[in-house]
Amino acid sequence: MNDVIVAGGGPAGSAAALLLARAGVDVRIVERARFPRRKVCGEYLNGGAVAALARLGVLDAVRKRAAPLQGVRLVASGAPPVVLPFSEPALACAREDLDGILLDAALAAGATLERARVEDVIVTGGRCTGLAVRGDDGALVPRAARVVLGADGAGSLVARKLGLTRGSAGRGRYAIGGHYTGFGTMDGYVEMYAGGGAYFALNPLNAERANVMVVVPRTRLARWAADVDAGVGGAAAALGDGVRSFAAATRLGQRVSIGPLEHRVRRTAVDGALLIGDAAGFLDPFTGQGVFLALTGAEHAAAAVLAVFGGAPERAAFGAYARWREVDFERRTRLARGVSLLIEAPPLARRAALRLARRPDLGARLIDALAGAVPPPRAFGIALLGRLLA
Ligand SMILES: Cc1cc2nc3c(=O)[nH]c(=O)nc-3n(C[C@H](O)[C@H](O)[C@H](O)COP(=O)(O)OP(=O)(O)OC[C@H]3O[C@@H](n4cnc5c(N)ncnc54)[C@H](O)[C@@H]3O)c2cc1C
Repeated sequence: MNDVIVAGGGPAGSAAALLLARAGVDVRIVERARFPRRKVCGEYLNGGAVAALARLGVLDAVRKRAAPLQGVRLVASGAPPVVLPFSEPALACAREDLDGILLDAALAAGATLERARVEDVIVTGGRCTGLAVRGDDGALVPRAARVVLGADGAGSLVARKLGLTRGSAGRGRYAIGGHYTGFGTMDGYVEMYAGGGAYFALNPLNAERANVMVVVPRTRLARWAADVDAGVGGAAAALGDGVRSFAAATRLGQRVSIGPLEHRVRRTAVDGALLIGDAAGFLDPFTGQGVFLALTGAEHAAAAVLAVFGGAPERAAFGAYARWREVDFERRTRLARGVSLLIEAPPLARRAALRLARRPDLGARLIDALAGAVPPPRAFGIALLGRLLA
């Protein structure tokens, strides 16, 4: 029996395992993928994520594999580009590098890794007491632990098997993309082109290679079935508005896709288990906060587990984690919904772009709120968002 078993070795699972192992806790990570593995992601690390990587002691290793980012260039269809500079350092880093560094750090700190698929949770007397996992030999085996951390991403099996998943709100979009070369000059700015319910994001990983994500509603995706590459290129060219197109771009490696981009949970803590990272709820990736939330969620969850192992009552410690996560996430969800109006309604997006161009302080506060530098309501409340869009 382990002290802690973690389902999933992405940023949330590896960061939690790293912190717990460093504190002397016996941690097992169960991860189904063989690393290095791709993860569908824009690969932008906001200021909050960079600060969390520094606290975890892995920032130097990440910097060696990453490129610095200066800010976001936001182009809402029909509006002039708005440049939003970052006030905190931000990075572009391929996920196979980032996730490998975090997992290696957790293993170096003493966590163990089992390459297997989590297929079920074990519940004994109303308490989650472990996971059932299937390894390469095909056998389903129980793994008991004092605490289970569900860090298995959006669509989390742990959340579903514990009965914590909420029904779909039906708003989920689909993301398709990959790494590309041939986009011409890239100057350290993340470029976002948005309009008509879709967006196209370009993140410069280095002078030649860019991460490209095109995010569209399901209906549009269905129309691309005959030629997905042509559909992606056409959508990007339309959104790119003459500034960017796929005309000279070549895909490097696999095309990746995922959807619907939606995962909601009712609660993030039950007796014996916590959900962290995307498993605890997924935000539309337009706002680029996912890795930040995964890392800070891991920090809060590890603190709650260490409090319990130090003698605190579990319900109090896990309840405090759940309150923090659920309140913070709800505020971020509201802000993200407001921001997604920029994607849904081009006239609003144009108005916001013009206002942001005149009021750089509003843009700076929005970026700070999304990066986690300041809690969202203080940095950028709904009233301020109203002023931007009204
Ligand atoms: C299109 C798109 C663009 C995005 N762009 C950005 C961005 O630019 N910046 C940003 O910060 N965030 C972005 N995100 C969000 C970000 O990718 C996630 O928030 C982040 O990966 C969450 O980390 P995690 O550890 O919770 O989950 P994941 O990174 O999903 O890791 C979960 C791990 O669990 C493993 N796993 C899953 N199921 C099982 C199982 N049954 N058994 C064993 N292992 C399992 C998986 O293999 C995986 O390794 C984007 C997301 C999408 C979809």
